[in-house]
Amino acid sequence: MNSIQDIWNGIMAILSGKLTTTSINTWFADCVPIDLHDGTLVIHTSTPFKRDILHSRFEEEIKDALREMFSCDFDLLILAGDELEDYRREQEDKKKAELSLPEMDGYTFENFIVGKSNEYAYAAAQGVVKNPGSKVYNPLFIYGNSGLGKTHLLCAIGTAIHEANPDAKIAFVKGDDFTNQMVRSIKEGTADEFRQKYRGVDLFLVDDIQFIAGKEATQEEFFHTFNSIYEAGHQIVITSDRPPIDMLRLDDRLRTRFEGGMMADVQPPDVETRMAIIRNKAGHLGMQLSDDIVAYIAQKITANVRQIEGVINRLTAVREITGDEITRDKVDVAIGVVIRDGVYVPTPETIIAETARYFQVTADDVKGVSRQKNIVTARHITSYLIRNLTNLSLPGIGAFLNRDHATVLASIRKIENQIKTDKKLADTIRDITSNINSRQ
Ligand code: ADP
Ligand code: MG
Repeated sequence: MNSIQDIWNGIMAILSGKLTTTSINTWFADCVPIDLHDGTLVIHTSTPFKRDILHSRFEEEIKDALREMFSCDFDLLILAGDELEDYRREQEDKKKAELSLPEMDGYTFENFIVGKSNEYAYAAAQGVVKNPGSKVYNPLFIYGNSGLGKTHLLCAIGTAIHEANPDAKIAFVKGDDFTNQMVRSIKEGTADEFRQKYRGVDLFLVDDIQFIAGKEATQEEFFHTFNSIYEAGHQIVITSDRPPIDMLRLDDRLRTRFEGGMMADVQPPDVETRMAIIRNKAGHLGMQLSDDIVAYIAQKITANVRQIEGVINRLTAVREITGDEITRDKVDVAIGVVIRDGVYVPTPETIIAETARYFQVTADDVKGVSRQKNIVTARHITSYLIRNLTNLSLPGIGAFLNRDHATVLASIRKIENQIKTDKKLADTIRDITSNINSRQ
């Protein structure tokens, strides 16, 4: 792509063939090109007076020059004097809005506790920020189990690059959203726009890529997206719950690409790191825990930072309600609520929401009466997952889904039987479970 200065030079070359040197010197000498986007050329001049003249006498010439260069029509926005500052601020806010994903908040390098388990991934992430697009770190592929800080690091990279370079075009997408967006764009006849959306970015952040494995059309599209970003020398960062070699249904050519840059794993944190994380999280929530309690939590929860956070959130709530000191007993109770068999217990609402999202239907559809095939499947799977991931009884599950316990039981049995022979269903359930586990 031409830089904005190149484009402006092109316009001036065309205009100097049509206007006198005096005109050019008088009206264009202090014009500075600012931006060309969404079909609008933005330029800046020193005074409102000059702006008026440019509009009245030269606007058509400038637009003609653009048409000559790009064979399409553009609008012209001329800023005068200190309007430039406001303009830049507005653009900045717009970019932030584009970037401001729910998860980006607080997911910064400063809030990331570094220990042996993640120092390599942390250093690689910082390497990307210092030198985006460098061959050494491109792509950066961060992998590891759920709840160990992959999304946090991915967002920290996005935030840091945005701060260093507010003009950088940054895209963040989850692997399954990439699939869904692609499918929808094909249905709606907007496949070209979908392609452009990601191919032109400076920084491409892809969270949980494992979901595209085995989905042929998505992998194909992702391959082309990857190549065009990579070949432009732009940076790609990918996270996954496993290394490429263990993504069994991944296209070989994608595997080769993923392994072609830097791979960094995140491991469960050691006890010192866990204690530091606990202190840090409690501190953020305005709660001071005794050394004994910090050590106790660190000893009890070993495999997953998200679970540590869940327990601390719970303790904050307990303290707010009872106002009491946090004791070991209270920690045990909080752990009992948040974790079952070493696994985080999601809420039924989360399970319904994630299953609905996977099938691209709404939570109300799942709870409603429609007999549409994908809604019915989503409903069966929801019953099955709530049964397997929470402590709820059949009538309890029924209450969430507006069903009686016999209907819930029938749904669960159906899935239990089908899953034995239907590999695709088993994968779907594994993917949804993994989505549920990667939410708070
Ligand atoms: P993943 O994407 O690997 O499943 P996340 O990045 O979502 O995990 O992390 C889960 C939660 O734990 C997030 O709230 C994150 O901020 C926190 N977390 C993970 N690792 C760390 C760390 N090293 N320091 C501070 N917080 C962490
Ligand atoms: Mg994640």
